Amino acid sequence: MPDKIQLLPDNIANQIAAGEVIQRPSSAVKELLENAVDAGATEIRLIVADAGKALIQVTDNGSGMSETDARMSFERHATSKINKIDDLFRIRTMGFRGEALASIAAVAQVEMKTRRQEDAAGTYLEIENSQVKKQEPVAFEKGTSIAMKNVFFNVPARRNFLKSNPVEMRHIVEEFIRVAMAFPEIFFSLTANGQEIFHLEKGTLKQRIVHLLGNNYAAKLVTVQEKTDYMTVYGFAGKPETAKKTRGDQYFFVNNRFIRSAYLNHAVMSAYQDMIPADSYPMYVLFIDLDPAQIDINVHPTKQEIKFEDEKIIYAFVQAAVKHALAQFSITPTLNFDLDPEIQKLDAVSNPFTKDKEEKTAASGLYQTFTQKNQAHLIESKSELKNWKDFYPEPKQSGSFKSLLAVHQEDTGGGFEYEKHIPQKSGEGKLALLEDVPLLQLHHTYIVAGTNQGFILIHQQLAHERILYERYMLAAREKPIATQKSLFPPTITLSAPDAVLLQELLPDLHLLGYQVEEFGKDTFVIQGTPADVPEGNEKHAIEQMLEQVKHFNSEVKFSRREKLIRSMAWQHAVKPGKSLTVAEMRKLAEELFECNQPNITASGNATYIAFKKDYLERMFGK
Ligand code: ADP
Ligand code: MG
Repeated sequence: MPDKIQLLPDNIANQIAAGEVIQRPSSAVKELLENAVDAGATEIRLIVADAGKALIQVTDNGSGMSETDARMSFERHATSKINKIDDLFRIRTMGFRGEALASIAAVAQVEMKTRRQEDAAGTYLEIENSQVKKQEPVAFEKGTSIAMKNVFFNVPARRNFLKSNPVEMRHIVEEFIRVAMAFPEIFFSLTANGQEIFHLEKGTLKQRIVHLLGNNYAAKLVTVQEKTDYMTVYGFAGKPETAKKTRGDQYFFVNNRFIRSAYLNHAVMSAYQDMIPADSYPMYVLFIDLDPAQIDINVHPTKQEIKFEDEKIIYAFVQAAVKHALAQFSITPTLNFDLDPEIQKLDAVSNPFTKDKEEKTAASGLYQTFTQKNQAHLIESKSELKNWKDFYPEPKQSGSFKSLLAVHQEDTGGGFEYEKHIPQKSGEGKLALLEDVPLLQLHHTYIVAGTNQGFILIHQQLAHERILYERYMLAAREKPIATQKSLFPPTITLSAPDAVLLQELLPDLHLLGYQVEEFGKDTFVIQGTPADVPEGNEKHAIEQMLEQVKHFNSEVKFSRREKLIRSMAWQHAVKPGKSLTVAEMRKLAEELFECNQPNITASGNATYIAFKKDYLERMFGK
């Protein structure tokens, strides 16, 4: 038998490896922007076409490259940013793995122009499938421009996997924001399909935040600023009133690198304790600066997760810094708080990072994660909601009812009808409301209704949610809901990511009775709403809807439409605490039983509980 193992040709190996670094157009955006930052640019322009699928181009006025470096830059593991293992402890640049350009060249057609200040001519390069197609001198201003065309043109499986343009565009905007936020001293612009979406003049961090996240934060930011020898935390935390139902505007940067960290997020959230409702998320933009030797940024191929040498200190420090900041603006005297002097005394703070420790670290995690093998793992960003039900304010009783039900169903062979709704054939078996028995509302939440089989207890909100869910589903499928034109159509201006999201939802919204039209940059005009949205409330309804849809965004298993409909049903359902007239109760109960699936909400909560006569009799020993 001949030997079977062969080395993969370079271009195939590169394509496979590229999958880690370039997962979608926005990954390339991140890498190219970071390279421009690393090159010391003061002006960086991003141009995309077709949500990055056709073109991603980044032009900078940074250092530029020599002819040799320009060619080298596309080789795998080619980097100017580290050259010995020690350098890994001193990383101040965004990149260092030397993989981005190689990955980009493996999955797209690339054109690069670059020139250093001192060179008479620049270099033009054309690369495709990791192969140089053309190289010639070119006249070019100082800096670099890299255009990446037709991403994944040679990997159809990946190309087909890309999401719709609005979705990919939203990812791009997110990455752009993350880089632009960290470098307010650099001019950035983003142009998509010929329209300039962001034009960010150099300025202060606060100006940058407001440009990126929206003017409404301008008067609602509290300065965070704490410094020790070990680390610095600075940035802004939103006043408690900025807390939203989603965790959209929360940014952590470590040495200017955007990172995700549930742990640090928790530190901030705990600083807000008792100031904001339990299920809401404050805005924050926080920068942690510390000795690069204290962190390992190499635990993740896209460098979005990092390991701290001593997490506990960072946690305590961040929490203290935010508490302190909030206390200073707060009028509540009980919140007075001083930065814990104990932190300064902690071991890791007071003791310098010794040679000995450095060696130990090198032997352990850091060096090893830099090896190829360990780079191959991909940590998927964890979705924040395990279950989209978490979002629903659970009716308080539901848990206990459910357990009660489980017990009784076993005991009695099914006294309650709750778990499964088996569509019953017409005739005696079918549950029907009694026409002549008045309905009764209890605690402004439950409705007691007599049925042919006993009685039922309806939860008004959950029942209404089911009704609306089915109505909206029908509307989206075949019978759009009529729109009531606004006499004075209000306009609504959103942050850029929200605007992209809304744009994505417009067609489905229209089916649900909302006629919303684009009206210039990030601004929309609400031409009409469904008849049941009171005039004057349109803006709020749209804003609330966006918040909720964002909440579902981590739930990949729902389509965009499903998310929209679920949030609309939730939003418009009558809430507990609302007193209902007899006619309203009757209508609710009747509409519920006209539903295809009357007994549970879309998220699986019971809408009513049925008490059957024979069960009631047994309860009374009859
Ligand atoms: P890394 O950033 O990890 O070093 P990349 O593949 O992103 O790896 O880039 C490879 C090298 O190409 C960089 O180390 C840098 O020397 C050079 N380079 C890339 N982009 C630019 C740019 N915009 N300006 C100047 N040099 C660049
Ligand atoms: Mg790079």
